[in-house]
Amino acid sequence: MTKKKMQPVVNLAWCKACGLCIAFCPRDVFTAAADGRPLVTRPDACIACGLCDYRCPDFAITLAENKVGV
Ligand code: SF4
Ligand code: SF4
Repeated sequence: MTKKKMQPVVNLAWCKACGLCIAFCPRDVFTAAADGRPLVTRPDACIACGLCDYRCPDFAITLAENKVGV
Protein backbone atom coordinates (compact mmCIF):
# COMPACT_ATOMS: atom_id res chain seq x y z
CA MET A 1 0.00 0.00 0.00
CA THR A 2 1.28 3.42 -0.89
CA LYS A 3 0.69 6.17 1.60
CA LYS A 4 0.79 9.71 0.29
CA LYS A 5 2.25 12.29 2.60
CA MET A 6 3.33 15.89 2.23
CA GLN A 7 6.67 17.29 3.21
CA PRO A 8 8.40 20.64 2.68
CA VAL A 9 10.95 21.16 -0.06
CA VAL A 10 13.32 24.10 0.35
CA ASN A 11 14.74 25.96 -2.63
CA LEU A 12 18.09 26.85 -1.08
CA ALA A 13 18.91 29.22 -3.94
CA TRP A 14 16.05 31.50 -2.79
CA CYS A 15 16.46 30.98 0.98
CA LYS A 16 18.07 33.85 2.90
CA ALA A 17 18.33 31.91 6.16
CA CYS A 18 15.92 34.13 8.11
CA GLY A 19 14.82 31.17 10.25
CA LEU A 20 11.09 31.93 10.13
CA CYS A 21 10.15 28.50 8.82
CA ILE A 22 12.14 26.82 11.58
CA ALA A 23 10.52 29.04 14.22
CA PHE A 24 6.95 28.59 13.03
CA CYS A 25 6.91 24.87 12.29
CA PRO A 26 4.79 23.28 15.05
CA ARG A 27 6.34 19.87 14.51
CA ASP A 28 10.07 20.69 14.48
CA VAL A 29 10.45 19.32 10.97
CA PHE A 30 13.43 21.60 10.33
CA THR A 31 16.88 21.83 11.85
CA ALA A 32 19.05 24.89 11.23
CA ALA A 33 22.22 24.20 9.31
CA ALA A 34 25.44 25.96 10.28
CA ASP A 35 24.58 28.77 7.86
CA GLY A 36 21.04 29.07 9.29
CA ARG A 37 19.24 27.51 6.35
CA PRO A 38 16.60 24.90 7.14
CA LEU A 39 17.33 21.22 6.74
CA VAL A 40 14.30 18.93 6.53
CA THR A 41 15.38 16.50 9.23
CA ARG A 42 11.97 15.16 10.34
CA PRO A 43 9.90 14.93 7.15
CA ASP A 44 7.66 12.23 8.60
CA ALA A 45 6.54 14.63 11.36
CA CYS A 46 5.11 17.12 8.85
CA ILE A 47 1.34 17.60 9.14
CA ALA A 48 1.13 19.76 5.99
CA CYS A 49 -0.18 22.75 7.94
CA GLY A 50 1.41 25.06 5.36
CA LEU A 51 2.86 27.54 7.88
CA CYS A 52 6.40 27.26 6.53
CA ASP A 53 5.19 27.85 2.99
CA TYR A 54 2.97 30.74 4.12
CA ARG A 55 5.56 32.43 6.34
CA CYS A 56 8.59 32.22 4.07
CA PRO A 57 9.14 35.76 2.76
CA ASP A 58 11.09 34.49 -0.23
CA PHE A 59 8.69 31.81 -1.47
CA ALA A 60 11.48 29.30 -1.01
CA ILE A 61 9.32 26.51 0.43
CA THR A 62 6.74 24.35 -1.28
CA LEU A 63 4.95 21.30 0.00
CA ALA A 64 5.42 18.24 -2.13
CA GLU A 65 3.96 14.80 -2.05
CA ASN A 66 6.20 12.15 -0.62
CA LYS A 67 5.16 8.60 -1.30
CA VAL A 68 5.94 6.35 1.62
CA GLY A 69 5.69 2.57 1.70
CA VAL A 70 5.29 0.03 -1.06
S1 SF4 B 1 3.80 22.22 6.60
FE1 SF4 B 1 3.67 22.71 8.81
S2 SF4 B 1 4.35 20.84 9.88
FE2 SF4 B 1 5.04 20.69 7.73
S3 SF4 B 1 7.13 21.52 7.74
FE3 SF4 B 1 5.74 23.20 7.21
S4 SF4 B 1 5.28 24.24 9.16
FE4 SF4 B 1 6.14 22.21 9.63
S1 SF4 C 1 11.50 31.16 5.92
FE1 SF4 C 1 12.24 30.90 3.77
S2 SF4 C 1 13.98 32.32 3.61
FE2 SF4 C 1 13.56 32.04 5.80
S3 SF4 C 1 14.94 30.35 6.44
FE3 SF4 C 1 12.95 29.44 5.87
S4 SF4 C 1 13.16 28.86 3.67
FE4 SF4 C 1 14.79 30.31 4.17
